[in-house]
Amino acid sequence: MKILLVSAHPEPRSLNGVLRDVAIKELEAQGHEVRVSDLYADGWKSEIDRADFPALAPDARLKPAAASGEAFADDSLTADVKAEQEKLLWADTLILQFPLWWFTMPAILKGWVDRVYAYGFAYGVGEHSDTRWGDRYGEGTLAGKRAMLLVTAGGWEEHYSDRGINGPIDDLLFPINHGILYYPGYDVLPPFVAYRVDRLDEAGVAAVAERLRERMRTLGSIPPIPFRRQNGGDYLIPSMRLRPELGEPDANGFALHQNDADAAG
Ligand code: FAD
Repeated sequence: MKILLVSAHPEPRSLNGVLRDVAIKELEAQGHEVRVSDLYADGWKSEIDRADFPALAPDARLKPAAASGEAFADDSLTADVKAEQEKLLWADTLILQFPLWWFTMPAILKGWVDRVYAYGFAYGVGEHSDTRWGDRYGEGTLAGKRAMLLVTAGGWEEHYSDRGINGPIDDLLFPINHGILYYPGYDVLPPFVAYRVDRLDEAGVAAVAERLRERMRTLGSIPPIPFRRQNGGDYLIPSMRLRPELGEPDANGFALHQNDADAAG
């Protein structure tokens, strides 16, 4: 497999740095090819601004989505963004690695998504009409590829459980798993999450590393989260609401968008 690991931690000697090296070493030992985007080491620019669209007239009003679409279409996106898009097209598996900061990804990684996921590349793809709402949620440029999150968290696993005060981890990660990875087409694997990591001793680090090695060994075979496909017939068009007969009658929230029955069958 060809794997792109996008890593977002400012300190190479951190736990995230250790886990990144463990993942790369294990994947390479399995014969996979690995490329890394180390966002802090690369000095990644995280904010979208006019500098992203060199072809935009200096006096033109900046409309980010429109400017992104035009720049993607005429191949005038900046070199750093084009290089990341090339890596995404090269890889058949994407891993986003980050420490959980304020219940989500660090700003530098969000900025990588904002800039690399151009209009026409990751969104605004496919026919958009009264009968079809584009190629997204299971379809799109990155369809057929796999992606997963590799996350460390200071909080306890129980705090992220079904009744935990932080909210269930699957809910917190839904905007990333569903909104960022599934949206442009990826099959999204269950996340690898290491909890309560802030005061790990050496044995604790070794245990997390071993669990990660095992996950890296099953990267190509583990079943993805059974998110419902937008164009698979489960949603009404144009409301994009789940058909009333699907899901548990009193269910709401993110879990509605998984078809666990299908996964079980
Ligand atoms: P490090 O601090 O680098 O390491 C953690 C521990 O691992 C160390 O103390 C050490 O014991 C061990 N270790 C590290 N490196 C080595 C090594 N080379 N060899 C042996 N042992 C090592 N947590 C949440 O749960 N929810 C949040 O919303 C949240 N928000 C945060 C927001 C901010 C801005 C910050 C700074 C932290 C937040 N945290 C939160 C905590 C955060 O998720 C953890 O601090 C982070 O995941 C730890 O990962 P790290 O790579 O920075 O660990």
